[in-house]
Amino acid sequence: MEAWRRQLDEPVAAFAVAKAGPAHIATLKTFDPPLTALEGRQFRGVDRRGKRLLFPTEDGELVLLVHLMTAGRLKYVPTGGSSPKSPAFRLEFDGGSRLILTENARKKRAGVWLLTPQAAEAELAHLGPEALGLGPERLGEIVHGESRRLHALLRDQRLIAGIGRAWANEILHAAKLSPYALSADLDDDEVERLAAAIDTELERGLELRERGASDEKTYRVHRRLGEPCHVCGTPIAQVDFEEHTIFYCPTCQTGGRVLKDRRLSRLLR
Ligand SMILES: [Zn+2]
Repeated sequence: MEAWRRQLDEPVAAFAVAKAGPAHIATLKTFDPPLTALEGRQFRGVDRRGKRLLFPTEDGELVLLVHLMTAGRLKYVPTGGSSPKSPAFRLEFDGGSRLILTENARKKRAGVWLLTPQAAEAELAHLGPEALGLGPERLGEIVHGESRRLHALLRDQRLIAGIGRAWANEILHAAKLSPYALSADLDDDEVERLAAAIDTELERGLELRERGASDEKTYRVHRRLGEPCHVCGTPIAQVDFEEHTIFYCPTCQTGGRVLKDRRLSRLLR
């Protein structure tokens, strides 16, 4: 998300909004103020909170909030560039450039909210501290605060903001920790390793994304089932946990143990 933010920060602030919308009915989550309230206003740039991108207007009266979820993509299309006919959401700027949100998925999950700054603040109040730069001390308080499986804890935006399921896989592999390890059991060394892995992995991702690398190039563990671990050569394994599929290296992370399915649907049956 930080890579998106950096890419969009300057272009979206260059011109005032000429036309806001249309938006897919499932994508636009708010109706008051209406999207048209953006027209004639200019953005100050882009901020980020966790996985959400914020586009505050220069006059300080409105904030456009975008959450891309898994399949959403946000693209700035310069004047004259081609863009999809029916995107999930579109903004057109004076001069003809556009900001386009597409979502290549059957179920539309990405969202766009137009909010007052007060409402935006309330919307974001439940987010935990930013993952990048968290540090071992703060992370120690979080992991020991409640006992959770590490993969689930890292993805919980109320505890730590900014880590999704793919990066949870990458981070836990780099930290040599089991996705099923209970957070309260981590000792000081492990907390330190996890804090370092959060920073190095997120920074690695940021750098690659900025260079335009694809997901395939960026992820070393996520969606690499059966491929050799880049550290030890063991084939990467996967396991279903809650509604996610976790990828891990049995040698680097679980002492050779194969993790068992813990699908939510199975637990609920
Ligand atoms: Zn390995």
